[in-house]
Amino acid sequence: MYRREARDPARTVPRATYIAVGFLGLFYAFIVWTGLVDCHSHPVWGLEMATGLDLSSVRDLGGLRAALAAAERIDGWVIGFGLDHNVFGGRPVDRALIEDVLDGAPAFLRLYDGHSALVTDAALRAAGVTGPRTFAQRSHLATDADGRLTGHLVEHAAMDLVGEILPRPSHTERRTRLVELLSAMAATGLTGAHVMDLGDLDLVDAVARETVLPVRLRFAPWCMPGADKDALEELVTLQGRGGRHWRVGGVKFFMDGTVEGGTAWLEHPDCHGQGTDAFWPDPSAYSDAVRHLHRAGVRTATHAIGDAAVRHVLDTVESLGPGSHLAHRVEHIESVPDDTVGRFAGLGLIASMQPPHTGYTRADRSDEWSLRLGDERASRAWRLRDLRDAGAVVALGSDWPIAHYDARAVLATARTPRGAASARAGLTGLQALEGCTTHAGLAAGEAAFAGRIAEGFRADLTALGLDPVDAPADEVAEAPVRLTVTGGQIVHRGA
Ligand SMILES: [Zn+2]
Repeated sequence: MYRREARDPARTVPRATYIAVGFLGLFYAFIVWTGLVDCHSHPVWGLEMATGLDLSSVRDLGGLRAALAAAERIDGWVIGFGLDHNVFGGRPVDRALIEDVLDGAPAFLRLYDGHSALVTDAALRAAGVTGPRTFAQRSHLATDADGRLTGHLVEHAAMDLVGEILPRPSHTERRTRLVELLSAMAATGLTGAHVMDLGDLDLVDAVARETVLPVRLRFAPWCMPGADKDALEELVTLQGRGGRHWRVGGVKFFMDGTVEGGTAWLEHPDCHGQGTDAFWPDPSAYSDAVRHLHRAGVRTATHAIGDAAVRHVLDTVESLGPGSHLAHRVEHIESVPDDTVGRFAGLGLIASMQPPHTGYTRADRSDEWSLRLGDERASRAWRLRDLRDAGAVVALGSDWPIAHYDARAVLATARTPRGAASARAGLTGLQALEGCTTHAGLAAGEAAFAGRIAEGFRADLTALGLDPVDAPADEVAEAPVRLTVTGGQIVHRGA
């Protein structure tokens, strides 16, 4: 086994060039790196989120209507996912635009960002939903000017009303799909994923007892608004539960929703006058919950897309005092001003970002994300490089199923961001690789035994057919994956 100590784990990936690694009597001569990690993914919850008709390639309303008219029914339902806000061309998301092609079938269509869904009248009736509701979190059932339910369910609590009655695949089917998915992830070079939800631990445990999980999973259960002391203590108790290649580590919060959905928490409203509310109706209750978990030694990760949301997380971490350096992280950070960028390194707050999401915006800023934010804020799209240059730890991921899980696409888009972010400098090849290796280790609090190749470290390795640091980004995106090893087990062997 090749060993080399990195001088500074936050800065340096051991460069093991053309080394031979022996496993199970087989010898391979490739460029072997410490295993790639997706720092934000939903492989278990996503099995449900990515159920039914894949609408991600639909571009306009005509395309959506045609896809729905031809859609296969699942127990009478039309279920779809990956629907882009841009399909509606700026119109309000409304069931009236699709109901006539569905023949009265109940339909549940997830918007691509995972933060809202469009359902039909039949679906609302099946769930017993007849009018607006109020929730403990910032979530609502959208209505039109006449007070009619449009079928647009905004944020988790609203989506759950109908989501809970959807037909579910059997346990056996889910077990098979989980193994298939994790194997496909390993085939792109992934050895680990930071799972930003609780998933279904019984399912994961059952699979892990039967077979070797191809990708190491680290689950961060959600803490939602309204959580009392008992709920927080329950989250503390869950920490460390695990088995081979899986464990619970950390807690996930939401401070806002998404820009496209009008639920990002912004310092100034978007072009529709939306985006001025936090997901926690009382943001100070969020800070109290983080402080409680921090005292219990629990790492937190907070979804914060808008500038006001990110600022609130920074302020909260600043209030924690000793022990907070590199113990907490922010997910997404899609548009922030200079003064916010500068605070990350000083506070040791980890930035966790998903470069493939830049592909949902357009360089000419004609997309929903850019239009809502306006030119000034859209010009600050995904400041990966600025955060790195300011000294922050920047961990990278895909947020599958929001974007494809392919680790090579994460590396490539981190170097050449798309759409509204394409005018900004991307990361260097080394910085991108660090985002999925050393910085991934730091983001999980595992830097002492993960994220590089060294004695006593995890035997998680990825062998690509080229050097991801020096090869051009577009070649990295297509790189052959020769070998993926998780916990000393070969979980993928390429051609
Ligand atoms: Zn996510």
